[in-house]
Amino acid sequence: MRCYICGGKKFGKRPGKVRDNSKLSVHECHSCGLVFLSSFSHITEKFYQNSKMHDTMPEVEAWCKTTRWDDERRFKFLASAMENRDLLDFGCGNGGFLVAAKAAAARAVGLELETRLTPHYESRGLKVFKALSEVDCKFDLITAFHVVEHLPDPAKELRRLACFLKKGGHLILEVPSSDDAMLKLYESEPFSHFTYWSCHLFLFNRDTLRLLADKAGLKVDYIKGIQRYPVSNHLHWLSKGLPGGHQKWSFLDSPELHAAYEKQLASLGLTDTVIASFSL
Ligand SMILES: [Zn+2]
Repeated sequence: MRCYICGGKKFGKRPGKVRDNSKLSVHECHSCGLVFLSSFSHITEKFYQNSKMHDTMPEVEAWCKTTRWDDERRFKFLASAMENRDLLDFGCGNGGFLVAAKAAAARAVGLELETRLTPHYESRGLKVFKALSEVDCKFDLITAFHVVEHLPDPAKELRRLACFLKKGGHLILEVPSSDDAMLKLYESEPFSHFTYWSCHLFLFNRDTLRLLADKAGLKVDYIKGIQRYPVSNHLHWLSKGLPGGHQKWSFLDSPELHAAYEKQLASLGLTDTVIASFSL
């Protein structure tokens, strides 16, 4: 086995475990720092079409509520960039971001493999393709939120996606960070038994995301750290060893505190999420 990014052959095993598959372990490349699962054989071609990612098949409306905060955050971040532009949201999930994007973009369409969602898209008036082979036009912006880490050959898929960019267009990627402070700074053991998931084949940080762009033959416009979970969530993990602190202890949070915490974590490269813009 060689590192997908740098071809290195030496890996360390990360502490923790893959929460839903005890046979897998989490490797980290000694040369480039790429984090990846020890095997990808559990991901078959039909895995996502059949909603296997969601083991309990979430009810769509309840699912939309859980992603509303992320949908709004992403919309605010990209609102000016998408104004009067054509946008494709690759791996659009429940379509929450697309509903918001339609208000600003000239055209906002999605692509999603999960087949059970078709009636939901129709009810929201969303145009969602089932495969890239169906897409017959180009876009100013292609977004992919928490998608790239699921792909067994992400550089190949990014190159393919970039063929659907208009001249001067941008690919916007958001991924969970392999350098999350909960892992790299606080070294929370309970968190390391909770966060790794068999669907996340790779985890990137700012450096390995840049190397991924190189491998895909794409230019990096920017890479920046975003903190999704607030300080209440982190303190709860460190105190109780359990998730959900952002709900149970939400009284600890404020927009000012979150902005300051995010800024500090970003300056250290320790946010839980990374957002990047690539172009041809
Ligand atoms: Zn490597």
